[in-house]
Amino acid sequence: MSQFAAALAGAITAVGVGAVAVARSWPTASGRHRAPQRGAEAKLLRPVEALDTFEAYCPAEDRPTLQLRLRLGGSVCTECRLPTTSITTPGDPQ
Ligand SMILES: [Zn+2]
Repeated sequence: MSQFAAALAGAITAVGVGAVAVARSWPTASGRHRAPQRGAEAKLLRPVEALDTFEAYCPAEDRPTLQLRLRLGGSVCTECRLPTTSITTPGDPQ
């Protein structure tokens, strides 16, 4: 095999390996991911919506629980998901 043929074969192999690597990482719909179910997942919070957590009184459970402070104001109980629209949070002056 001449040196040119060897170099050509090496180049073709390199291009083929690169094409396989690109094809495997190409984002396509594989059908493995199911569409989100509206009922259950609609109530869950996206992580970007929650700013931080704090402990506060939950009126539904009548005891202090961990609350998520939301980006748009208010908070949500982490255990029963009861939303509160109060802007005031612990530490804020009344
Ligand atoms: Zn609660």
